[in-house]
Amino acid sequence: MKDREILDEFIMPKCTGKAFLVKEGQSFRVIQIEGKQVASLIFFNAHNYKEQFMAEFSGGLNYFHPEQPGSHYRATKLYSKVPYENEMLSLTDNKIGDHFLGPPCTKAIMEALGEPDHRSCSDNFTDALKEFDIDLKDIYSPSAFNAFANIYIDTDGDGRLNIRPPRSEMGDYLEFTAHMDVLVVASACPDDVSPINDYECKAIKFEIFEG
Ligand SMILES: [Zn+2]
Repeated sequence: MKDREILDEFIMPKCTGKAFLVKEGQSFRVIQIEGKQVASLIFFNAHNYKEQFMAEFSGGLNYFHPEQPGSHYRATKLYSKVPYENEMLSLTDNKIGDHFLGPPCTKAIMEALGEPDHRSCSDNFTDALKEFDIDLKDIYSPSAFNAFANIYIDTDGDGRLNIRPPRSEMGDYLEFTAHMDVLVVASACPDDVSPINDYECKAIKFEIFEG
C-alpha cells in the first residue's frame, strides 16, 4: 500500500473535532499518534446530509452478512440509515479490531459521569460542522463509529457494558474506503473521566489516500 498517493494528512488536536470530505473510491486512515485515544466518527452522504451513517443498523446488517456471520459489533461494512440503506464505507484495515458501534459521549453522558460542564464529542462535532455551515441539531445522528474504543457488552452474561482503556498504541490505525462521497466528522474524544481514553486526552492523525 506504500505506492498510493497521500492526498492530505492532518492532525486533530486533543479534545477537538474536524470535518472533511472523502470522495468515492478514496481511503482514509485514523492513526494513533500517541496511543490509547478514541476517535468518534459520524458520516454523511456529502450530497445529502439526511443520509447518515447508522451504527446500530450497520451492526445488525453485518451480523447477517455472509462474509462474516455473527460479527455484530466488529462491523466492516458501514451503512446509512433507513430508507437509504447504502454501504457508505467499508473498514478495509483494522488489525487492532477494537471499535464500538453506538453513541459517542454527549452532554448527558458527561452529566452521568458527574462532570456536567465537561466537553463532549457532541461539542466537537458541533464545532467541526461549522466549517460546512451545518447546524448539528438539523442533522444529528447520535450513532457513531467509535474507533479504538475497547468496549465489550455482556462478557459475563450479565448485560453489562464494560469500558476499558484502549489497547491501541502509537502507530496503530484503522483504514476506511468510501463507496460514495462522504462527509466525515471526527472527534478526538475529550472524555478524561471514564477509562475510554485511559484518563488522558490525546491527538489523532488522519491520512487520505487516492483509491
Ligand atoms: Zn467522546
